[in-house]
Amino acid sequence: PNLKYEQARRRVSYSYNELWFFLNDHFKHNVSLLKFVNEHRASFMYDLESLSDRDYEWRKNEFKKLTELFTSVVDKLQNPPNCATANKLVCRLNKGCGFGCQMHHVSYCMVVALATKRTMILDSNNWRYAPNPNAHGSREPSWNLIFQPLSRTCTTADGKTHKPWSEGVTAQVVDLPIIDSLRPRMDYLPRAIPEQISEKLITLHGSPIVWFMGQILGFIMRPSQEMKKFLENAKKRFKFRSPIIGIHVRRTDKVGTEASYHSLTEYMKYAEQYFQNLEIYQQRSGKNDKIERLIYLATDDTNIWREEIKPFEEKGFTFIGDSQIAQSAGLTSRYSLDSLRNVILDIWLLSESDHLVCTFSSQVCRLAYELMQTRGLENNINNEKSRIDWYDAYNSLDDIYYFGGQNAHNQIAILNHDPEPGQIPMKIGDTIGIAGNHWNGWSKGLNRVNGKTGLYPGFKADEKIDIAKFEAFDNIDT
Ligand code: GDP
Repeated sequence: PNLKYEQARRRVSYSYNELWFFLNDHFKHNVSLLKFVNEHRASFMYDLESLSDRDYEWRKNEFKKLTELFTSVVDKLQNPPNCATANKLVCRLNKGCGFGCQMHHVSYCMVVALATKRTMILDSNNWRYAPNPNAHGSREPSWNLIFQPLSRTCTTADGKTHKPWSEGVTAQVVDLPIIDSLRPRMDYLPRAIPEQISEKLITLHGSPIVWFMGQILGFIMRPSQEMKKFLENAKKRFKFRSPIIGIHVRRTDKVGTEASYHSLTEYMKYAEQYFQNLEIYQQRSGKNDKIERLIYLATDDTNIWREEIKPFEEKGFTFIGDSQIAQSAGLTSRYSLDSLRNVILDIWLLSESDHLVCTFSSQVCRLAYELMQTRGLENNINNEKSRIDWYDAYNSLDDIYYFGGQNAHNQIAILNHDPEPGQIPMKIGDTIGIAGNHWNGWSKGLNRVNGKTGLYPGFKADEKIDIAKFEAFDNIDT
């Protein structure tokens, strides 16, 4: 296996999926034809996975090594032997937004810390979910009730010189603004990955930026002992088990402002297809255990439990979820430790599902998708071997994956395109700024070479991977 082979292997499944999206949209009223198409896809994917199995051990080993390397770099950066003289980057957790948005803010701080080789100091004093001093009146930061401290050796922002980022990154301690106010825009902001591990990462993972952000978030969100117990108890209480689909339905304050309303039926379409696929997989692998159709449902709109799940229960689906019972779920304006634990639990269990169906316009679901990439050793779709790369284990009803405040997301044309009305012309090698995927075979974007905006076939373009220098990764042995 090498870069070209792994990319080609993933492209086969990517372009087949784009064709499948196209047919699903084109024949949406033809039920028997769609059944045929879905069975065909499942059987095809089963064969592709069997082919990929040949290099399974190699892939698993390489992933393990890369993850260990990442961990050692972060561990070294965050635990300087002498905190008094270490260069520091101060990240404030007082951003006035929801939990997903706040975690993304901290992960952006970590990106800058890794790029500039500065120990990240988290200032959680005015965290709206849990201000300090914490609820128990203790002086220990409330962050530590939920997550492990980000450093064992260095947690104070003391230093000889202390300056805001805007005055140049020269002082020992530098205060970082939120990503939207950062000027100038550095090339290492998302969607960039560290040059030093880029070739390995591009070889191994279908969406390198998601893996990178997932590793960072996995580090930031290492649960405290107490939180770990809370998560484990909840898993037991729900009898959380595989195979399971994670569905996240984001409504309340988001609908009409930042996203559209979607009925549960729209999400369930993908869940139904997933379980149909699983049945084909079973036939192909010669098993015939009954497959339970289990859904982990996370939502801020608790009415769903009373009003929308019934028809699907009648079709044989079982729903479990914290928002069915949690008092604080759904109240986005309530910032308390309890609501914090509830949203973390939902994100955790979404990330541990076998497949995610949600709207990527929501930071909650993007966070679950990022964390999903840190798993690697769990059971895969046919429960025989652990799945390693989770980059395509989702369906988003709206956006493609993005990181809020990211640099331009570009693709490169790999085929020419002769446009019809509404479409853009493309020549091989053109850079296309991608705005979205319509999940019907067509993506929308701006051809930066000829300045035209419109639709183009998704299978005719490849991701352009942004690579930048991250100082913390210097002198590592890949
Ligand atoms: P976004 O607004 O969906 O992009 O994500 P944010 O994380 O910035 O804000 C959403 C807030 O809504 C979260 O912090 C939660 O308080 C709440 N929320 C949204 N979805 C869920 C969910 O599935 N479960 C729970 N418990 N809370 C949710």
